[in-house]
Amino acid sequence: MPEVPDVIKGISILVFIFVPIEKVLAVHQQKLFREGWFTDICYYFSGYFIGHSTTKLLIVFALLSQRSIPILSSFVGQQSLVLQVTVAIFIGDLSFYIIHRLMHTVPWLWQFHTIHHSSTHIDWLATVRVHPFEQILTKACQMIPLYWLGFSTEALAIYAIFSSAIAFFIHANISVRFPILKWIIATPEFHHWHHDRHPQLYAQNLAVQLPILDYIFGTWHMPDREFPKQYGTELNTKTNYFNYLIYPFNHLFKNKRN
Ligand SMILES: [Zn+2]
Ligand SMILES: [Zn+2]
Repeated sequence: MPEVPDVIKGISILVFIFVPIEKVLAVHQQKLFREGWFTDICYYFSGYFIGHSTTKLLIVFALLSQRSIPILSSFVGQQSLVLQVTVAIFIGDLSFYIIHRLMHTVPWLWQFHTIHHSSTHIDWLATVRVHPFEQILTKACQMIPLYWLGFSTEALAIYAIFSSAIAFFIHANISVRFPILKWIIATPEFHHWHHDRHPQLYAQNLAVQLPILDYIFGTWHMPDREFPKQYGTELNTKTNYFNYLIYPFNHLFKNKRN
């Protein structure tokens, strides 16, 4: 019997975990096949392969360039696994915070990032609606500093699994509140506000793992016991995967011509 490809196993596990939980604990009642689901499935499959290819390229790049800070690299590699993973999460999310903030302030970067904000329904599947350019850019910004600093392969593997798991968790359409945990780790209650339809709230809650970063930088927004009423941007939500793919380039070239 042929082996089931990992990409299929991955989406099966996600469906198995999130579909029943979202059914029982939904913030917003919505259909399983809600608007844009097929577009997001396309993003899941393309994102899976782009993510794997990017990781391989980054490892080659890191191996070729790692000699730049050997003392620091051997010091980091000697620390306990728990400490390495904790520090990797902090550095990785700080890097993400910076690039994410730029995506919200630099107009041409926003043309790519607006695709992620176009979802009018936020659930586990909305996680993957990320333009390939953004996916490669954010992955490079998060992983290159970690490779250079010499984190062990085990620490990087745990960090990668944690990053993927929390990304799906914070988008999930679940209304569970985590009174203490919500200050330590990003939750749906935290990230859903980042997808609120009001443009002034897009640039709030920019971290995706550590809410404290937003607290420190003054971009934290989490009203008690509330979730946004509406999600999305002005972007046409009826559009498909291919149109979303070319949207930023069309927009940029149009601006250049005008
Ligand atoms: Zn998001
Ligand atoms: Zn954003």
